Amino acid sequence: MAISANEYLDNFMTGLKRRNPGETEFHQACYEVASTLVPYIVTKPKYIEAQVLERLTEPDRVVIFRVSWEDDKQNIRHNRGYRVQCSNAIGPYKGGIRFHPSVTLSVLKFLAFEQTFKNSLTGLPMGGGKGGADFNPKGKSDHEVMRFCQSFMTELHRYIGDDVDVPAGDIGVGGREIGYMFGQYKRLTTRFTGVLTGKGLEYGGSKIRTEATGYGVVYFAQNMMKQAGTDMAGKKVLVSGSGNVATYAVEKATQLGGKVLTMSDSSGYIYDKDGINAEKLAFIQDLKEVRRGRIEEYAKQFKGAEFHEGRPWNVPCDVALPCATQNEINGAEAKALLKNGMKVISEGANMPSDQDAINAYIDAKVLYGPSKAANAGGVSVSGMEMSQNSARLSWSEEELQKLLLSVMKGIHERCVEYGTEGKYVNYMKGANIAGFVKVADAMLAFGVA
Ligand code: NDP
Repeated sequence: MAISANEYLDNFMTGLKRRNPGETEFHQACYEVASTLVPYIVTKPKYIEAQVLERLTEPDRVVIFRVSWEDDKQNIRHNRGYRVQCSNAIGPYKGGIRFHPSVTLSVLKFLAFEQTFKNSLTGLPMGGGKGGADFNPKGKSDHEVMRFCQSFMTELHRYIGDDVDVPAGDIGVGGREIGYMFGQYKRLTTRFTGVLTGKGLEYGGSKIRTEATGYGVVYFAQNMMKQAGTDMAGKKVLVSGSGNVATYAVEKATQLGGKVLTMSDSSGYIYDKDGINAEKLAFIQDLKEVRRGRIEEYAKQFKGAEFHEGRPWNVPCDVALPCATQNEINGAEAKALLKNGMKVISEGANMPSDQDAINAYIDAKVLYGPSKAANAGGVSVSGMEMSQNSARLSWSEEELQKLLLSVMKGIHERCVEYGTEGKYVNYMKGANIAGFVKVADAMLAFGVA
């Protein structure tokens, strides 16, 4: 007798939690995917018989290693490094490296799992992985960061390669860290290959890679709004974060006529009722990227701007772009956003909304672009960086801008294809099913592996 979707989901989650005790972020990400995917796969016996979802939630492999390094006072320090290789069914493992004290195996397993679906959604041949360490770059000198990155790569280099696994940046890993890691890889292997993406333009990086995730988040919002007969012009926009993704989301939202009212960091948020224009954004970029300071300084610099502790989600807005970190919007905050008029949310960070928040958006039938669709612009341009490296070519900015727009449009179309429910598009369901089908069909082709 055919099993019901609810029964399948219960059995699946019970088994997953038993095999992965205490990995709450991983459970959360798997539930978010399974809750929309299971009603689809119970109608497709080929996926059930081949245990595709169960196999996909068991990473191909996880590498855990010690990273020893010396600080500027010659104290010996050590951190834990990881690489989670989730699936290479449709291409080499691909996904960022995160350096943050909150990094655990659970966080990286959730990110690698999400990445597998995201990379599939882009239409490019990339599998899913993620890595990192519980290292805190804040307050460290450039030399300390360099020694840490070199030590991290000394171990990691055995497990990666241009056709094997191609890491990139993420929280705490930007151009500086990628440079140190690429330099060390080259030194250890004597090979100059496209083994990392997000590289500097002088040594094989791609134009617009830095901007791609943030721009893509806004393009995804724009695609959803176009489908609903509206656009960004004149909209009040809330952004969280002040790192790579947030900066370029603010830039693009402003260019398209939106008024960005907030940005944040881990100490709080700034609210600027006059909007964060290009000049003010340049101040933030210098503050966060060069001086590595706190966002509070913005409120001292610009008249009328306020600094508040906590998160920005009580400020009235039309559009929300969470671009900081996971679980930064809970159910109560989602309800506050909806009560204050939010109609569109496009996620720059990975899994920024918890399950209660997602339920609130879907119940209210607002335009909700889940991270695996909305923030896929970055990995898409990373995929293009891999192609340029393989071909020993460098594509023009104009060409890459066009490609990014077209990839984000394609992702939107795939979500609409699988997520339309009457007049409403459930983008989460669409993204999960569309991302799954390609990977699952490749796995079926390989037999039992
Ligand atoms: P950055 O390190 O450049 O910036 C992170 C920003 O988020 C900083 O403002 C940081 O504040 C803030 N932040 C980090 N952790 C917390 C926390 N626990 N609470 C509150 N604020 C926090 O990272 P990215 O911009 O690269 O990444 C941001 C998000 O986007 C992540 O979820 C990442 O996985 C996702 N993403 C990134 C991509 C990329 O291309 N870079 C691609 C796809 C997704 P502070 O300065 O105080 O630390």
